[in-house]
Amino acid sequence: MFLIFTFLFGMLIGSFLNVVIYRLPRDENIAFPPSHCPKCGWKIKPWENIPVISYLFLRGKCSSCKNKISPIYPFIELLTGVLFALAYWKYSFTPQGYISVIIISILICIFFIDLEHYIIPDSLLVTLLIVSVLKLFILNQPTFWNALITTGITFLFFYLVYILSKEKFGGGDVKLFTLLALYFGWPLINLLIVLASVSGLLIAGILILAGIIKKDEPIPFGPFIVFSSIITLFYGEELWTIYEEMILVLLL
Ligand SMILES: [Zn+2]
Repeated sequence: MFLIFTFLFGMLIGSFLNVVIYRLPRDENIAFPPSHCPKCGWKIKPWENIPVISYLFLRGKCSSCKNKISPIYPFIELLTGVLFALAYWKYSFTPQGYISVIIISILICIFFIDLEHYIIPDSLLVTLLIVSVLKLFILNQPTFWNALITTGITFLFFYLVYILSKEKFGGGDVKLFTLLALYFGWPLINLLIVLASVSGLLIAGILILAGIIKKDEPIPFGPFIVFSSIITLFYGEELWTIYEEMILVLLL
């Protein structure tokens, strides 16, 4: 019952995230003006704003000018719904659960904004900082010293990567990894970095081999960091155990 409720609630939040993802990188106000068609300015009526259902009902077109609406909007609504339901299933109505759905919302925005605009807005990073500090105080997880040392080392490491790569590795990525180190602590941040690097190299390799992008073309790293964060959020402990065993086998 609550699973369906959190799924529907997640879809509503997803509808709001769509607004953030569209307006934040364009320096538009998030609350005003109300939702409108970017082509003809048609004010979207409440019944045209129901997550996913309205999109299907309008057959993906603006009801006024018939301009095509990107299927990415209902996709983000569905994705948010699924991840919220997963968070409830895993953590139920606990502080950990509430904090998880907030960080999931921030991460979804970072994923789609970085993918399109190659930037990670500072306002989202500041929100992530607040959530990470809250988590530290409410759950004491990671412990204070773990968080402090992990965050420091992560920052120094990626700042070095940033300089050595001659800024090909973005400053936004340095900040994002540093804040995630604060959020996850040691050892989960280690797992997250490995997952992000492996998935990033794999996808970049496939895209280059398939001729979709050129060898020197920059690709945003943020989406890979977000993907790995969400995996770590739900399955971090289990994966870390497997990862440790794999390292042991390789060493012996
Ligand atoms: Zn329109």
